[in-house]
Amino acid sequence: MQKIAILYDLSQAVMSTFDLDEVLNRALSIMRDYFQMPNAAIFLIDANTRELYLRAGFGRPQSEGEVRQPISEGIVGAAARAKRPVYVRDVTKDARYIMRLSNTRSEVAIPLMVRDEVVGVVDFQSDSPEFFDNETIDLLALFSTQASQGLENARLYSLEQRRARQLEAINAIARQTTAVVDLDELLEKVCRLILERFAVDHVAVLLVQEGQLQVRAHLGKLTASVEKGDLLAPGLGIAARAIELGKTVLENDVTNDTGYLPGFEETLSEMCVPLIFYGEKLGCLALESARRHAFEASDIQPLEAVADICAAAIQNARHFEKTQQLAYLDGLTGIFNRRFFELRIAEELERANRYGSSMSVIMMDIDHFKKLNDEFGHLLGDEVLRQASQVFTQHLRKGDVVCRYGGEEFALLLPQTNGENALEVAEKLRRAVEAWHFPGVPRKVTISAGVADSPTFGKVRDEIVAAADSALYQAKQAGRNCVFTAGRSKQAPA
Ligand code: GH3
Ligand code: MG
Ligand code: MG
Repeated sequence: MQKIAILYDLSQAVMSTFDLDEVLNRALSIMRDYFQMPNAAIFLIDANTRELYLRAGFGRPQSEGEVRQPISEGIVGAAARAKRPVYVRDVTKDARYIMRLSNTRSEVAIPLMVRDEVVGVVDFQSDSPEFFDNETIDLLALFSTQASQGLENARLYSLEQRRARQLEAINAIARQTTAVVDLDELLEKVCRLILERFAVDHVAVLLVQEGQLQVRAHLGKLTASVEKGDLLAPGLGIAARAIELGKTVLENDVTNDTGYLPGFEETLSEMCVPLIFYGEKLGCLALESARRHAFEASDIQPLEAVADICAAAIQNARHFEKTQQLAYLDGLTGIFNRRFFELRIAEELERANRYGSSMSVIMMDIDHFKKLNDEFGHLLGDEVLRQASQVFTQHLRKGDVVCRYGGEEFALLLPQTNGENALEVAEKLRRAVEAWHFPGVPRKVTISAGVADSPTFGKVRDEIVAAADSALYQAKQAGRNCVFTAGRSKQAPA
């Protein structure tokens, strides 16, 4: 009777904390000091996999490492299933025994129960057969009931705390993402916020790009074997599966997953949450952990809430990007407009001045366009403008910028190009237009062009543009269908 009274006091110590590790430590030290057990191992149940995993213990070799087993196996599993203590006096005569410690002869496994639910098992082993006596087992079972309640309290408390943290995280992410309209900046922010507020080692955002998944951002402490901009092989991997299913896919041990695509070297658990906006699959969030079994089923819902917010923010940023682009495009020809020319010439001049490099401007104007309109109609005139724009685009390098400057006038920016080379470019374009057959126009269409470069004709926008304009005027004066450089009356060799 006195033993039970002492035990009651000890149990109170276990119940008086909400910290799981603290509960486990106190329970273990009672088993060691009060019950004089040679060793103990506390297994808990993984709610997702229904496996028992070793969570804490003493007196057992470190080399045991991570221990996990199905509830259907071993003496520990037998106790969990039977919901009562299982005492094996001689393990060599019991087929259920799984050998983990080589010298074990007898074993007691006591389930940790909360109401009618098994939450874990505590396991004791001894090198001697029939080491445990019935009274000790009864008392241990009694103590375990109290310890279980302590475990349950700690679990409920941490669940509550985790929920509160997750809710707070969702709110913070919503607050901090809605105003970001630059897509790259947004995705980086999403990674950072998730990394800060959820228990993950690395976060990546993968977006669908013409049917393939592209790594658009990633952040964290794992070693990446993918780069921003990389396309993933189609149809494979957890991310592709999540997108195809339109559902979160959780893999708590990627070494078991034959379809796993290694994106980060140390990853052992991965969770992919699809980004879906009004039914449109935009991509997914990939959350990585260097631990096995890092994710729980209860993590899915808050991360899906985060993914929904991100999907809306991504769509928002994309919409903004598109509107911005539209503001710089010419409606008739689809090439850049004058507003874009003004933006870029300022940037390019600044760059050229900073690095002491040159850059050129070509002003081009279709010859006798008024007459063309009068003869063939305005609609055909429009088509000529569209086709001329195509001819220009086709003949230019990637870094060159062609803009519709006005009615039938075009302006070209050639970064890192001197006047001499620009003159050749202008001449190439003049010839290309002259040679082009414009459907519906039974004669040649020609252009005139004026070229000016920086620094030869100045270092500011107005100087260069005025110089190119006056060269264009010279070309018109010289009879059209030709190319001039500013300042000198130098004509390109035809
Ligand atoms: P020049 O060789 O001296 O350049 O003669 P031009 O007739 O090409 O020059 P002008 O500036 O006298 O006339 C330009 C014409 O371009 C007048 C205008 O009706 C026409 N134009 C301007 N914008 C458009 C457009 O968007 N579509 C069509 N079809 N015509 C346009
Ligand atoms: Mg003209
Ligand atoms: Mg004109």
